[in-house]
Amino acid sequence: MHSQHAAPGIFTLSFDVELAWGEFYRGPVGVERLLEARRIFPKLLRLLEKHEIRATFAIVAHLLLAGCEGHPSMPRPHLSWRTQDWYDADPQTDEKHDPVWYAPSLIALIKNAGSGHDVGSQGFSHIPLDEPGVSIEVARAEVAESSRLLRANGHAGSSFVFPRNGICYREVLAEEQFTCYRGVERRWYRHSHRIIRKAGHLLDQVLSTTPPVGRPTRHGLVVEVPSSMLFLSREGMRRYLPLRARVERARKGIERAIATGSVFHLWMHAEDLVPGADLMLQALQSVLLHVRHCADRGEIVIRTMAELAEKN
Ligand SMILES: [Zn+2]
Repeated sequence: MHSQHAAPGIFTLSFDVELAWGEFYRGPVGVERLLEARRIFPKLLRLLEKHEIRATFAIVAHLLLAGCEGHPSMPRPHLSWRTQDWYDADPQTDEKHDPVWYAPSLIALIKNAGSGHDVGSQGFSHIPLDEPGVSIEVARAEVAESSRLLRANGHAGSSFVFPRNGICYREVLAEEQFTCYRGVERRWYRHSHRIIRKAGHLLDQVLSTTPPVGRPTRHGLVVEVPSSMLFLSREGMRRYLPLRARVERARKGIERAIATGSVFHLWMHAEDLVPGADLMLQALQSVLLHVRHCADRGEIVIRTMAELAEKN
């Protein structure tokens, strides 16, 4: 069935890459799981290449460092929920000793994959910018240092993802040459209590509701790229959600994007491919096969976040 609309739908895929930086402030770092995530990363890149899907990778820029000796010059946040120094857990070693804190060789794989992936930022050390106690100086330093490291390593550094999707201080992005950031899905339960939100999110998956689609929108000098659907991990209770439910929900989003000529933006944490990596990659492959099929029929185009910003 061909779309009646002149504009094809758009498929956008983004991966957050955080390793230890995404979890050190929540409790003990799951080193084994993160090492496994590193090991299966080449499989993910091959999968994308096979289906000719260019994606956006939003990395915590500290991962680009081969090693470090702490960061005394970086301004610190003042957080009620983390009274010790933000960099307390930083091992101050190198990739060989602590490959979940430093990962330049892993990030280099993305560039060398040759598929034209978009490598962007999730800040320097994953400080959630929307938390009380995070000043604009802290935000500016996080954004600036990540931009500097990305460029020094030959990455475009155009796309930004706010740590924990906490959108704040958007004005500092353009100062550091970022052109876009990922928005947050509009969900019916977004103003509810945390427990309702968690239940609501799972219910959406179980009922396989059609995820939202949207259009890039300009906010001053930067473009907000809409977000549609988190590709759920198999951790904890989520493992009881059949993989086909994730695939089915993504397909519904793709159909809606085609029908409306808008963006379906699927995102996930690269680390969330573990546990159950083979099953997760299979499920992701089912989605990408469908995208490739639609793209070959001219119903959908595949765009990175940076590309969507260019055209707005
Ligand atoms: Zn460090």
